[in-house]
Amino acid sequence: MAYKNYVDGKWVDSVTGESFESRNPAETSEVIATVPKSDRRDVDAAVQSAARAFPGWRKLPAPRRGEILFRAAEIMVQRKEELASLMTREMGKVIKEARGDVQEAIDMTYYMAGEGRRLFGQTVPSELPNKFAMSVRDPIGVIAAITPWNFPLAIPTWKVMPALIAGNTVVFKPASDTPILAIKLVEILEEAGLPGGVLNMVTGPGSSTGMALVTHPGVQLISFTGSRASANEVSIEGAHLGKRVSLESGGKNAIIVMDDANLDLAVDGVIWSAFGTTGQRCTACSRLIVQRGVADQLVSRIVERARALRLGSGHLPETDMGPLINESQLRRVGEYVEIAKSEGAKLLTGGQRATGGQCANGYFFEPTVFVDVTPRMRIAQEEIFGPVLAVITVDSLEEAIQINNDTQYGLSSAIFTSDVNKAYVAIRDLSTGLVYVNAGTIGAEVQLPFGGTRGTGNGHREAGQAALDIFSEWKSVFVDFSGKLQRAQIDNS
Ligand code: NAP
Repeated sequence: MAYKNYVDGKWVDSVTGESFESRNPAETSEVIATVPKSDRRDVDAAVQSAARAFPGWRKLPAPRRGEILFRAAEIMVQRKEELASLMTREMGKVIKEARGDVQEAIDMTYYMAGEGRRLFGQTVPSELPNKFAMSVRDPIGVIAAITPWNFPLAIPTWKVMPALIAGNTVVFKPASDTPILAIKLVEILEEAGLPGGVLNMVTGPGSSTGMALVTHPGVQLISFTGSRASANEVSIEGAHLGKRVSLESGGKNAIIVMDDANLDLAVDGVIWSAFGTTGQRCTACSRLIVQRGVADQLVSRIVERARALRLGSGHLPETDMGPLINESQLRRVGEYVEIAKSEGAKLLTGGQRATGGQCANGYFFEPTVFVDVTPRMRIAQEEIFGPVLAVITVDSLEEAIQINNDTQYGLSSAIFTSDVNKAYVAIRDLSTGLVYVNAGTIGAEVQLPFGGTRGTGNGHREAGQAALDIFSEWKSVFVDFSGKLQRAQIDNS
C-alpha cells in the first residue's frame, strides 16, 4: 500500500515522487506501507494551504469546531481496535498499551471538543467608570506539529486538537517510524468533516522535511515533541526566525522507594514504569532510588520479575514487552549497557539483544537491571529510551530528592512511602513537572498539564487548560461606554 501526503483537503504524492517504508519492528522484513519522502516544495504547498484556510477556520464559531472534533473522537471509539492493532504492527508496543494510546487520543479529542464551548477568558473590573474589561483567546495562525513515534496517535492529538479548537490551522509532520497511524488520524478528521486546508500532513525525514517546516516563514508556532538534541536544533532555528516554539523532550525519571513503602506495590510500579512500552516512554522510570533498608529485597524481587517478562509480538496476549523501535535504538541501548559496565555499574540481569523464539526477527532487548550505580554515571544521567533500570541506593529522603533533581531533565518522578509527611515533603521538593505518590512515573491524564522542568522543555505544558496557552494569544479588550475620553492612570477630574 502506498500512502500520500494530505494537502488542501486532497491526498497527493510528493513533488519528487520518492517514498520510504514503514516496517514492523517485531518482524523487520514486513513492510507495512510506503509514504512520501517530501521535500521543501511539499512543505511549502502544505503551509500555503494552511495559511489560506486560516481566516475561515478562525471565524468558524468554536462550538462548531468542537463538533467536528467530537465526531472525530466518536470515529476513533468505533475504530479503536483496528487502530490499536495497526499501532502494535507499526511500532511494536503490546496490544493493551496500544489500546491505551488510542484511548488517550480519544480522551484528548473529547476534552478539546468540549473546550469549543469554553475557551474561557476573563472579565475583570475596570478602574474607570463606564468601562468594560475582558480578555479573549485569539488563534496564532499556522502551526507546525512535529511528533515522535512512541505515542503515534496520542501525541499528535495533544497538538492537533488544541491547535484546531483554538482556531489555528496545522501542518503535521509525523515521525518517520510511525507515519501510518498519523495518516489514519488525518483520515478520521477528514471523515469527521474538517474543511480542506485546515489540517495538512507531510511525511519525510526530520532533518529535511521537518527542518523545512520549522524554517518556513509561513509557520508562526512550532509545537515539537522529540529528543533533546532535535529540540535544541528546532529551538535554535526558531529563535533565529523569531518564531514561537513549544518543546517537549526527554526524561530521566526516577522512582524513590522508602524503607516504609508497600513493597508489593513498589515492585509493580517499578516493573510497569521501567519496562512498559519497552522503556520507550518519555516518562519511563530509568532510575530506581531506593532506601538502604529495603534495597536488597526490592532489587531481588524486581530482577525476578524482569527475568519473567515475556518478549515477543505485541499482538499475542501473553506478551509483556515488545521490541525497540528500530536498529539505531537497539544499538544505542547496547552501547549504554557497555558504558554502564565500563563505569563500574554491576549488571544483574539482561544486557543484551534478545534473539530466541518470537524475538528472532525483531529489535528485541532483554529487560536490564544495573546496581551499584552512582548518581553521576552516564546511565544515571542520560536518557537511554530502552528497558534499562539503574538502581541507586540512598540513606535518606533528602538524599533521594537531591539525586532525583540532579539531572538535565525534569519530567516525572514518583515516591513509594506509607508516611504522609514524607509524601508531602516529596511533593514539595521534587522539581519535576509530574509527581506521583504510590504510583509509577507513567500514566498521565489529559485534563492536567503535562511537561517538564529543566531540559525536558522550554516552560510550556501540553494537555489540560495549559495546552490552550501554547496555541492561543491573549487579547485584552477594553470597551469604554462613557462617551468621553477617559485616560487610564491619569487624573481625569
Ligand atoms: P526525534 O528523533 O527527536 O524525532 C521527533 C520528531 O522530530 C520526528 O518527527 C522527527 O522526524 C523530527 N525531527 C528530528 N530532527 C528534526 C529537526 N532537526 N527538525 C525538525 N524535525 C526533526 O525523537 P524520537 O526518537 O522520535 O522520540 C523519542 C524522544 O521523544 C525521546 O527523547 C522522548 O523522551 C521524547 N518524548 C517526549 C515526550 C514529552 O512529552 N516530553 C513525549 C514522547 C517522547 P523523523 O522521525 O523523520 O526523524
